[in-house]
Amino acid sequence: MQNDMTNDLNNSAATVKDNVSAAEWQMRVDLAACYRLIAMYGWDDLVFTHISARVPDTEDEFLINPYGLFFEEITASNLVKVNQAGEKVAPSKYDINPAGFTIHSAVHNARDDAHCVLHLNTSDGVAVSAQTEGLLPLSQQSLFPLSNLAYHDYEGVALNPDEKARLVADLGDANFMILRNHGLLTCASTVADAFLFMYIMQRACEVQIKAQSGGGNLTHIPPQILAGIQAASKEVTRGAGGDIAWPALLRKLRRTDPSFAE
Ligand SMILES: [Zn+2]
Repeated sequence: MQNDMTNDLNNSAATVKDNVSAAEWQMRVDLAACYRLIAMYGWDDLVFTHISARVPDTEDEFLINPYGLFFEEITASNLVKVNQAGEKVAPSKYDINPAGFTIHSAVHNARDDAHCVLHLNTSDGVAVSAQTEGLLPLSQQSLFPLSNLAYHDYEGVALNPDEKARLVADLGDANFMILRNHGLLTCASTVADAFLFMYIMQRACEVQIKAQSGGGNLTHIPPQILAGIQAASKEVTRGAGGDIAWPALLRKLRRTDPSFAE
């Protein structure tokens, strides 16, 4: 039963693996794992929000989820390969959400180092994004995003070409972005880092909302500590440990449902 369902969701697994490079297959496995992890932590939003990755050794080919599948249904094989415009560049029985890909294509296009772009609409992320002061230095977790954080104001549901330019200008060389009244975004050179960055920012948002809900006075981490962290931002984000935690996360997934790697 499980196998029937998995096979049905796959885009002929054997065929896809046979027809892509080893590097692309590895990227597909990592990206599918990232979708499964987001679902596992409950940070998905039905079939909305997206995680995208650049196909290795290409400039303008990307992998993204088939629109309409839950994140827990994503496999390495059913990820859809598209170009900058969101048009399919390899056969797939699935379609993608072109509007949802717009933010991702803008970031991939503007940032050579952004091989993975992760965007979520979690309740705590949106809640913090709606706060005028944004993310506050309330927790150790918050220091990672605060070391390298950009904001982009909300301009409506659809992202037009003008807004794309403003979004990437706002992003600059940051790896963490809060989309005002909308959610969270991370980008990184690997899927592992994009996931770990998001994990830490999401946790920081959860802590902030809980701390504010507690009713007591809140202590902010002193500005000099924050300034020191910001001065060493690349060192700090490297310390987020994508490479260290990622293999353990993959093992965790394999213990529960290894079908992401099919
Ligand atoms: Zn969104």
